[in-house]
Amino acid sequence: MIDALRIDAEEQRAWAGPWFRIGGSLALLAVLWAVTVPAEPRFRLCAFHWLTGRQCPLCGMTRALFALGKGRFSEAVHFNALSPLGSVMLFSLFWSGAWRARLWSAGIAAFAVYGVWRVMGA
Ligand SMILES: [Zn+2]
Repeated sequence: MIDALRIDAEEQRAWAGPWFRIGGSLALLAVLWAVTVPAEPRFRLCAFHWLTGRQCPLCGMTRALFALGKGRFSEAVHFNALSPLGSVMLFSLFWSGAWRARLWSAGIAAFAVYGVWRVMGA
């Protein structure tokens, strides 16, 4: 009986893969398009900003992602210059492959450099 309920891992991947990838991507895009967050938040969630008064490499990313979801590219870049890269990294989580690891490695390096640039107050 247990064997009858067991789902072959390969079979499960074949079924769940496309649905998860496409459905998850579309669901995330729908949320980013439908939900509007305030341009100036009442309070900041970033502990680094609380402590230092400076922006970390991720500050503004939430607002930027929601702006990108509505096609407002310049507004998104205003909130966080690396938000287009961040959105590609976010959506890549629904996909797999060696390219994703390379994307994330390069992306993390870019955010590290951006963080230094922001913290230095440029
Ligand atoms: Zn921050």
